Parts: sequence; C-alpha cells; structure tokens
Amino acid sequence: MSEPPAAPTTTTTTTSTTTAAAHEMRVDPARAQALASQLAAVKDRLAALAGGRNVRLVAVSKLKPANDILALHQDPARHAHFGENYAQELSQKADLLPRSIQWHFIGGLQSGHCKTLAKIPNLFCVSSVDTLKKARLLSSARAALLAADPSLPKLSVHVQVNTSGEDAKSGCAPGPDTVALCREILEHCGPGLHLLGLMTIGAIARSRATTADAAENEDFVALREQRDLVARELGLAPDRLELSMGMSEDYEGAIAMGSGEVRVGSTIFGQRPAKADAKIKD
Ligand SMILES: *Cc1c(COP(=O)(O)O)cnc(C)c1O
Repeated sequence: MSEPPAAPTTTTTTTSTTTAAAHEMRVDPARAQALASQLAAVKDRLAALAGGRNVRLVAVSKLKPANDILALHQDPARHAHFGENYAQELSQKADLLPRSIQWHFIGGLQSGHCKTLAKIPNLFCVSSVDTLKKARLLSSARAALLAADPSLPKLSVHVQVNTSGEDAKSGCAPGPDTVALCREILEHCGPGLHLLGLMTIGAIARSRATTADAAENEDFVALREQRDLVARELGLAPDRLELSMGMSEDYEGAIAMGSGEVRVGSTIFGQRPAKADAKIKD
C-alpha cells in the first residue's frame, strides 16, 4: 500500500494514531481556529467554576462532520472526549478518526445497538444505560472484546435517570429502580463494565428558565439526591459515583451543583443541521 500524498501542513495531522482516512481528511484552518477558540472559552469558564475539581468536558459532536472533530482533536486543542447520539454515526466516525479519541455514547440506547457499540475499542462511556438488559448486553460484548485484547479498558457507563419524569425521556425511574439497576451493574456486569455514575438530561425548558439560578434546577437537585441514595443503599462513598449533568444552556449551574461531567455541543460546534442534512464527510 502506498503512502498517502503529503498534504499541506494546514490540512493534515501528524499524530501517530492517525488513521489513513483521517490523513486524507481536510481541516479548514479558519474553521479549526474558530472551533478551538470556542472550545477554549468553554474550558476557561469551566475551570473558573470548578474550583480545582476535575470536570470532564464532553464535546458533543452529533450531526457535525468528522473533520470538525479532527480539528479539535489535533494540535493545538488536543481535545479527547467527544459525545455522539446515534449509534451508526458514532461507529462511522470511530472508523474514520484516530483511535486516541475517547468516545461517549449519550443518545437514547437501543438493545439492538449495544453489541456494536461495546465493540468500539475506544468507546469510553455509554451514558444512557437505563435497563439491566442493556447493561448485560454491553457487558458481555465488552467482555468478549477484552478477552481478545486484555490491554483495552472496561467500558464505563452512567445510569441515566429520568429526573424530570417526562414520558418522552428515556431513563430509569428515580428511587428503587435506579438503586436496583446500579446494584445489578456492580454485581453482574463487572467483567465488561465500570459504573462511573449517574446521568440526567432534564427538562430543557426548566434549564433555560433557571440558568442564572442553579439551585433552582430541580433535575440537578434530583440527580444529586439519587446519587446520595444509591451510595447509601450500596454502601459506597458518594464521591465514588460521578454526576453527568449540564449542557450548553446550563453547564455553569451544573458545575456549581457538583457535576463531574458536562456535555456541551452547540456552544462549541454551533447550531446543528437537521438529521437528514447531516454529513459525516463534507
Ligand atoms: C445534544 C446533547 C447534548 C449537547 O447539547 P447542547 O445543548 O448542544 O450543548 C448534551 N447531552 C445530550 C444527552 C444530548 O443529546
């Protein structure tokens, strides 16, 4: 196989993990610079609010092209954590982009997608586990992958909690259901999964209305209560379980409420296209 042709320095990346496909992907320098400065602004804001705590920033790249992700993964931004909502889109992007990316699946999880997702070696976390069936499917597929390559990490998961009680939102019901699911993951999914913590999306209208006053965000309060309940029932230290909460509209308030992970999309990447218009390669 021949080497890809040398590209101008502004349109290529030089990390050793870069795939051939990523090598051929063009990154527009002006777009890369705009993205990097938007990312840096969020990171600065985050650092200022986190008061020395480590808060993971997941850059939510759903419906955005792969070269936008590459632009933020390569120098100088070197961002590692990216979040996607659609299983097929994530699989395609993971194939195209460097293995050094740490992927997060944050969308509605379907049983039929669990096996494919768990086999993506650099999938770091599935944040939307809401049934034991899906947890077991993820765990067994990941365990099979680990048997073939023990150097890979276990797959981290968050249990998604439906803190707002909206029927349309997926997520485990707060209370005994959430406690039971966490217990079952710890007891039965150990071979493939690491329980990282709890996740909520929350009511968007509510988060818009209360951005300025974090203490009023009932979803964040509720997720923290669920975390404390699970920790108490299972005999864990509360800080053993992280909270994944906060998006573009409300991540500042979420950090104030103790979030360990925020998922920020449009503030970094701009408005998303409609799903029908989204292109992985542009
Ligand atoms: C799209 C999405 C985000 C990011 O939303 P923005 O408002 O664009 O920051 C975060 N979390 C989940 C679960 C999402 O689906």
